[in-house]
Amino acid sequence: MKFRPYPVSVAFPESYYTESQILLETALASVPGYSTWRKDDPDPMQNIDLRFAAMPILTKEDLRTHFPEGFLYPGRNLVVGLATKDIEYVKTSGTSGEQVTNIWHQKWWNNSEVASWKLNSNANAVASGTLREAILSSPLSVGFKSDRGDLSMEKRLLDRFLFLNDLADPLAWTDSYMDRMIGEINTFKPVRLEANPSLLSKFCRYIAHNHRSIYQPSLILITYELMSRLHLKHIRSVFNSPVVSSYGSTETGYVFMECEAGKFHQNIDFCRVDFQPLKKEHGGPFIGRILVTVFQNPWTAIIRFNIGDLVRISESQSCSCGRKHGLILSSIEGRTINLTLTTAGFAITQHMADEVISGIDDLEEYKLVQTGKKTYDLFVVCKDSLFHNIARHAHPILKELYGRDATITVKQIDAVAPEVSGKYRIISSDLEIDEETLFENINSQK
Ligand SMILES: [Zn+2]
Repeated sequence: MKFRPYPVSVAFPESYYTESQILLETALASVPGYSTWRKDDPDPMQNIDLRFAAMPILTKEDLRTHFPEGFLYPGRNLVVGLATKDIEYVKTSGTSGEQVTNIWHQKWWNNSEVASWKLNSNANAVASGTLREAILSSPLSVGFKSDRGDLSMEKRLLDRFLFLNDLADPLAWTDSYMDRMIGEINTFKPVRLEANPSLLSKFCRYIAHNHRSIYQPSLILITYELMSRLHLKHIRSVFNSPVVSSYGSTETGYVFMECEAGKFHQNIDFCRVDFQPLKKEHGGPFIGRILVTVFQNPWTAIIRFNIGDLVRISESQSCSCGRKHGLILSSIEGRTINLTLTTAGFAITQHMADEVISGIDDLEEYKLVQTGKKTYDLFVVCKDSLFHNIARHAHPILKELYGRDATITVKQIDAVAPEVSGKYRIISSDLEIDEETLFENINSQK
């Protein structure tokens, strides 16, 4: 039986397979981090997709263990690369379990980004690498940090980029601080606004509530976090610019880009994406995790990296935008660690839960925590006068999602705080969920 790497048929150019094969064979032959993988290669004459599927999964732990030389491309010299500034070491944010130090090659990252723009016509229309760009993100992710948030605009400018936020804690944003951001956007007139959606949602609520006017960029690019439907509603109340989600990671570069029709297309010139479906009872075969292989990075060989997110594959693999090559997704479903379980033990993705919760009227923010097998706490930020209605609405829809025997508790809070990484985690579970038990064993598909 022919091996099927996806539950649907996906169109790739021939060069995609050639690139996959060269990378895998080079890594198995000469990259030390993959020396233990050689025994898993079934047969060099086999179909390349099957050979990839037979390989282990690369984890953040592997990257840490073998840093810095374990995944270096043959012939590369770290001392020379660092001295000539061709590369540098870049540490990602978060807790010690989340942090990874990467060998960072800026040229590869830039090329990967530029290639991703072709996947959205609005992004492509402003694809020049010289246009003004404002960034609203946590300084723990990117930019300049100050404990008092008092860095002048000049000190937060870097080349063509303006970093709007220098406070690590967004709960410390005052009215005058947000007025500063409004003033800077109106003066700087960014062509692109790149934003963490939680922070942009908070900023937009302030603008809308105070009836302030704000410059409209040509494009709003959402990154750093999965955008909630609630975030989009708040952004839409202030901005009429096209809002586009871009998906990737420090380790992998740009992997998917949302097109103007709302589906996600694979950045095939810069990555290979393998797919491992959730078991049927957990929402498979169209929802699963992605394992990313990086193309065109001359420094490091990253193969089948578990980026930690779930996606939903488009069943039709067609899109009204007309783009044909590469995997097409209907949605990004969120972090695997943000999965919750129904009372019967079935997986619910962040996106699935968000679709339900974001439908509650008058919510400003929320955070859902599964505290036990049948208990769920929903924390909501709203006006005092609206809380009663919100709680009444939340009970039946969450029982519909998680089970008739679910115990739902709704509590009002002042604000949701971000994680140590500076990113928000608005849906999570206190249960120990063993990720590996949720997925189909890929070997059984051969
Ligand atoms: Zn499309």
